[in-house]
Amino acid sequence: MRNYEISEKRLIDDIEAIAGWSESDPAAGYNRPTFSPSWAAAREYIIAESRRLGCSVKTDPAGNLHARPAGLSWDEPAWLCGSHIDTVPSGGKFDGVVGVVVALELLRTQPEAALELVVFAEEEGTTFGIAMLGSRAWAGTLSAEQIKPLKNPAGIDFAGAGEAFGVELDKINPGSFGFPLDRYKGLIEVHVEQGSGLWEKSLPAAVVTTVNGRRQYSGSLEGVANHAGSTAMADRLDALAGAAELVLGLESLGKEFDALRPGSVLTTGALTVFPNAVNVIPGKADFMLDFRSPTNELLATGDLAIRRLLASIGEKRDLETHIHCFENLPALPFDPSLCDRLRRAGAELGIPLPDASSGALHDSAILAPYLPTAMLFVASKDGVSHNPAEFSRPGDIAAAARIVAAAIA
Ligand SMILES: [Zn+2]
Repeated sequence: MRNYEISEKRLIDDIEAIAGWSESDPAAGYNRPTFSPSWAAAREYIIAESRRLGCSVKTDPAGNLHARPAGLSWDEPAWLCGSHIDTVPSGGKFDGVVGVVVALELLRTQPEAALELVVFAEEEGTTFGIAMLGSRAWAGTLSAEQIKPLKNPAGIDFAGAGEAFGVELDKINPGSFGFPLDRYKGLIEVHVEQGSGLWEKSLPAAVVTTVNGRRQYSGSLEGVANHAGSTAMADRLDALAGAAELVLGLESLGKEFDALRPGSVLTTGALTVFPNAVNVIPGKADFMLDFRSPTNELLATGDLAIRRLLASIGEKRDLETHIHCFENLPALPFDPSLCDRLRRAGAELGIPLPDASSGALHDSAILAPYLPTAMLFVASKDGVSHNPAEFSRPGDIAAAARIVAAAIA
């Protein structure tokens, strides 16, 4: 069995080097906001390692970094492989970084492969407010006009902060892909699972076949705000009590959805109570929901079930109810033949490779409409992510790297 010369030690050294460039005390998490000195230093490390291998390096107008081996011209079709190095505030060492260091290790060990490393800018969206900004702008789904007003917490806009890293807003063309599409055979992104499925089963990796669709809702329950001392229990129209019933009902619905189609999730993420005072019966409760599923059928039937539950609580408690779906993203299947290619690579290497769906969005989801795209998940310890406790086993990361090496060989 080939091991494609992948070195666990080098992968871990890369992860530690990148973590070492983070802003704060590692005990408080790893911070690398996009275009910050810590992010720039981590990016500089990737550039230096790539150049040391003889790679040529370039940036695109959205601030994404690209590296190709010396023997591979920028016009030849290549496999795109990479992820991101920006973090959420107090993030972990592995989110995004795993995909980048795998691509770097492949550049080191598979010099003959048609491979292009990519580091996408501003994946998390916690610096400039739009997630996957670099990949969206590169793919042409975000215009310069949409990017212009975006500022980091210091008040510096994306173009200003990114100028030193290749950002040129006037070269971003909405509707057209940043580089000619025929330069790419496809995109393979290795990423930590950010869920516990693989870890619990002691499996190293999975082929991500779908990115979950997502519906997000805002809504309200309205009753009557009244004196908490003088209004009898029988006479109350308590919006918060109705909301409490809704939250628990939605939790049960979420469990039913997950039983029907594993990976489906339903969350009441926000609840605002009015007037929110100790001696006033709440007259209004505003809520926000996030509903995700790997299948569009369940998103549609689930939508009806959510609306029915809210209406029935309103009727029973004599509360006025409203609900509005403000985001409706369908489930996105990855390229079936690329998924097959990864499965065959896993089989060749004797690495068990189940299918998974991704509950979170990644740069891959942005590029999937344009390029044959698939992802490999690596097991996340206890499913913890966006947290300094984030951990993936070196052996599992190396297994993912070997699968990609076999898939692109
Ligand atoms: Zn990520």
